[in-house]
Amino acid sequence: MANLALLGLLLLPQITAAEERVAADFPDPDGGMPVAEAPVLPEDPPAAAEPKQREFSVQVIRGLPTEEKVVALTFDDGPRGTAGKILAILRDKGVPGTFFLLGANAGKNPALVAEITGAGCEIANHTWSHPSLTKLGRDEIAAEVERCTAVLAAQAAEVRPYLRPPYGRWDEDVLAVCAELGYHLVLWDVDSRDWEYDCPKTVLKKALTGLKPGSIVLFHDGPRVTLEVLPRFIDAVRARGYRFVLISDYIR
Ligand SMILES: [Zn+2]
Repeated sequence: MANLALLGLLLLPQITAAEERVAADFPDPDGGMPVAEAPVLPEDPPAAAEPKQREFSVQVIRGLPTEEKVVALTFDDGPRGTAGKILAILRDKGVPGTFFLLGANAGKNPALVAEITGAGCEIANHTWSHPSLTKLGRDEIAAEVERCTAVLAAQAAEVRPYLRPPYGRWDEDVLAVCAELGYHLVLWDVDSRDWEYDCPKTVLKKALTGLKPGSIVLFHDGPRVTLEVLPRFIDAVRARGYRFVLISDYIR
């Protein structure tokens, strides 16, 4: 399949590197790219007609690529009413975090977006309205992503090129849109399940279960339990010899 994809890439130079990767990751069940339909190219195509090759290659990230004892905190669905309290905890502990914001919420809370970035935290894309992207077509997925980034970019100097798909649901179309628009798909490997449980003890245990070097831990901006668990979680993780980092310290 890789050889076929490579052959297809050679014969179809208008296919971008990112698209080629998508094709390789999701093999055509019919057995590869239609090499027989490759156009005959002139020997020296004019420079202006040459497609722009992308350097970007989309990554699907569940943890940071490191053996160092580091952990990345992430907060989804904001900015909401608890964002200020989360930031107060992070400031108090001297810990950074990555906030995956909803465009619709950011549009309503520009002051919170500024507070997040001003606190040494980073922001990234969690779509405009939190749909399940696997139920949308590529144009709709792209619209959800771009509309969110447009709002964030208007409010912050830097928006990280990460998409966290709502509910962690993604498919070939989501990955293709990420490749086209230049986003890495950033998931997680530890889920605090703060969206599911009210009991701080349970959420703390979930957030510590499976923690390892490079873990990306999922919390939410919204649940009250998160505010109770977060300081204890940070202390417990540090007691295990870890420090906290931003995703952008490792993924560009
Ligand atoms: Zn979400």
